[in-house]
Amino acid sequence: MKINDLRATTVSVPLEAPLRHANGCHWGRFVRTVVEVEADNGLVGLGEMGGGGQSSEETFRALKSTLLGWDVCRLEELRFRIGNPTASLYNNHIQILAALEFACLDLLGQAWGAPVSEILGGRLRDRVAFASYLFFRYPNPANGNGEVRTVSQLVSLAQKLKSRCGFRTHKLKGGVFPPAYELECYRALAKAFREDHLRFDPNCTWSTEQGIQFARAIDGLNNDYLEDPVFGLNGMRRIREKTQVALATNTMVVNFEQLAANIHDIAVDVILLDTTFWGGIRPCVKAAGICDTFQLGISVHSSGELGIQLASMLHMASVIPNLSFAADAHYHELVDDIIEGGKLNYQDGAISVPTAPGLGVRLDREKLAEYSEMYRRLGPYPYDRDPLRPCWTPTTPNDRWADPADDRRPEIPY
Ligand SMILES: [Mg+2]
Repeated sequence: MKINDLRATTVSVPLEAPLRHANGCHWGRFVRTVVEVEADNGLVGLGEMGGGGQSSEETFRALKSTLLGWDVCRLEELRFRIGNPTASLYNNHIQILAALEFACLDLLGQAWGAPVSEILGGRLRDRVAFASYLFFRYPNPANGNGEVRTVSQLVSLAQKLKSRCGFRTHKLKGGVFPPAYELECYRALAKAFREDHLRFDPNCTWSTEQGIQFARAIDGLNNDYLEDPVFGLNGMRRIREKTQVALATNTMVVNFEQLAANIHDIAVDVILLDTTFWGGIRPCVKAAGICDTFQLGISVHSSGELGIQLASMLHMASVIPNLSFAADAHYHELVDDIIEGGKLNYQDGAISVPTAPGLGVRLDREKLAEYSEMYRRLGPYPYDRDPLRPCWTPTTPNDRWADPADDRRPEIPY
């Protein structure tokens, strides 16, 4: 089965509200590049990637001549063709490689009549549990709804999501407001959901001392882990030496070199695997095996996904024996999807792993056209800028926090 054509389409799919984070904001929408790899037998495999609010269409177009005629089965060689580690010093195509890997696995699964999970070794679970993934949010630019800034707004959103989706794990994305205020928010969640698991992620924005202080302050709560309190394995190691809470990362260990460094001198307890950042589903499964051998924890990271990437996460999570935490997904923040049948459903805090051949999701052409048109209308957005603080630069560590009393609504095209 050879690659006959490659198409990339950029879409903007609206979020319930703009999501605030330590580096800026998702401006009320996710910009994703949807990839279609057509084989010479007429089958079409699907891939997807993000890119911090920008389109990656041009890169796929530039790679097309390299890929036409490529045998879909030669996935391992594709890794070197697209993501050669030394060539990547000039052109880092790891996320591109991931989208192509999803599409090739989708094609193989369709050709063989097998879901991707079976190509990967077979499902150990039919459903994958997810965390609620709570963000501080600006009000929706169109209707003013959905703001999360105060403690009560946060707890109320978590309660709504729990009743809608059944989450039993709650992840708070911090790094926006002063650490003491975010601690108050986290404690309020712990009080409101005494039986549930919790995790906190300030996206590496604190000093090591702030990280130590926060880790000590949350000790005794029902924490899964504290994710990326500081940037760098040395800072993580210092926090780990001085505190009890397990530490996790999706930032400092995103390839095998870094995983090896963390095993030689452990700084992080739980590695968050991202099918995009690691270059595909298969590298994540391989990394999970290494973590299993060295008894490191793993969890599933979300870099913002529509249904195609979500399917990659579900297949990956379904085959990993040592997945002991609920996965992350931004998915519940989306108002729609570009796959047939609309958004995949949460039930009791979990999503079923697709069982149809390949990734098990297909494109809804009308939705693709609708959200492609939305991208053309709204254009890209700067993931690493806050629309209400244009002069602010997110330094690491940061010491210029947003003000929790600031209730302005940003003017964002929506
Ligand atoms: Mg994170």
